[in-house]
Amino acid sequence: MSERIPVKNISPVKVHHPDKNKHDNTYTPRSRIYVRSVSGMLENFRRFFGLFFMSLFALIPWLQFNGSQAVLFDFGAQRFNIFGLTLWPQDLTLLAWILIVAAFALFFVTTFAGRVWCGFMCPQTTWTFIYIWFEQTIEGSRHKRMKLDERKMDFDKLWRKTLKHIAWVGIALLTALTFVGYFTPIDTLFIEFFYFSSSFWVVFWVLFFTLCTYGNAGWMREIMCTHICPYARFQSAMFDKDTFTVAYNAERGEKRGPRGRKVSREENQAVGLGDCIDCNLCVQVCPTGIDIRNGLQYECINCGACVDACNGVMEKMNYPKGLISFTSETELAGGKTKILRPKLIGYGIVLLLMSGLLVFEIVSRKPLELDIIKDRVPMYRETGNGLIENVFTLKILNKSQITQRYRVYVDNLEGHTLIGENEATVSGGEVFNLPLSIAINPKNLTQESTEFSFRVESIDHDNSPIKVQEISKFLYPDL
Ligand code: SF4
Ligand code: SF4
Repeated sequence: MSERIPVKNISPVKVHHPDKNKHDNTYTPRSRIYVRSVSGMLENFRRFFGLFFMSLFALIPWLQFNGSQAVLFDFGAQRFNIFGLTLWPQDLTLLAWILIVAAFALFFVTTFAGRVWCGFMCPQTTWTFIYIWFEQTIEGSRHKRMKLDERKMDFDKLWRKTLKHIAWVGIALLTALTFVGYFTPIDTLFIEFFYFSSSFWVVFWVLFFTLCTYGNAGWMREIMCTHICPYARFQSAMFDKDTFTVAYNAERGEKRGPRGRKVSREENQAVGLGDCIDCNLCVQVCPTGIDIRNGLQYECINCGACVDACNGVMEKMNYPKGLISFTSETELAGGKTKILRPKLIGYGIVLLLMSGLLVFEIVSRKPLELDIIKDRVPMYRETGNGLIENVFTLKILNKSQITQRYRVYVDNLEGHTLIGENEATVSGGEVFNLPLSIAINPKNLTQESTEFSFRVESIDHDNSPIKVQEISKFLYPDL
């Protein structure tokens, strides 16, 4: 066996050591990937999405509905307000539905278009690109940033680094305040925080999320996507040969190599050169530092930056675009991508089904709940006029956001008398304890335990009152 197997050493993240020129001056193992800026259609698309979702994130907690914060996840009061909808611990199943729908939506999108969530919508990517933008604006282009890091500390380096970190911390703080504003009223949160009058826990969580944002988007960046986020690991289970992902057309690109711009494409092809001019731009713009020419890698977040970079190169070379593109394995092999396939249809059907059930759950959900507590000590008592009396406490939960008046009725208990208040006014989101008793002539009782029901109806909704009914028991064991 004298023939040698050609071995190619592939490192997903090339490293740059600012102080060691003998290495490829591109990346550094733990400190930083120097991402080069890129322009193009996908970059514009990502900016649009990033800006859109970031604006939503920043604006939503400031919206008002019925005179209070429209979206507020109030853990203290154990209720989530989402516009007109108030969710209680009892509505946890609804939260489970929402998570299931979100999971199937992710499965569906990933099977169809790979990790587009990661590349275009994930907060980690959005915030990382915002941080990179500040880095570029303050420290300069990729090349300048590399030179700056190689230099010893001087005044110019000091002020640039200081300003960058101030900007990063500022964004992190605003992000953290906005995020905490989803859990505590945001209007007072900002004022109290900057007047140093917030509670210990509010300050703790704001600082905690500031640190998380600063650490993730400023320092960890691709490490979060490649080593921590579990999604990168299980995404391959959803991929198939028809999934659209960012891929390099090796057949067209190889054999790669530099060439003069004056030499025509055909002449290059005649000497065995493919369309890749080996400029490395696709690697330099990659936020996770990989070389897409090495094939599909789990580090790829499908951001399309390499597509834009390579298309720019192809344009300059007068070559057709698309050497790197969003494509499928089938298409790369010369076939036609099959859009409607069993896995995608399956995910789609489950997604539709789950979404339908979620909508049904929300629509059919009653904004009123009733719990009955039977007083068992004593189990019953005899009144002065010979009636048997049972005592109950009705817990009326007004799950709406406005004050409601309710009236209590007793059904299926012949000859009863209701003693005590049978009406209650309950504020939005409050539980009202209504004690009352039922008295009955023992002649009307035929068994030790008689089943009947309490019905609570809203008074102010004449046409279609909100009502709930709960079964209870009237006890007279000495019968
Ligand atoms: S390989 Fe391309 S699409 Fe994948 S992460 Fe890098 S730049 Fe983005
Ligand atoms: S940007 Fe395009 S031409 Fe340049 S190295 Fe990457 S694949 Fe080759």
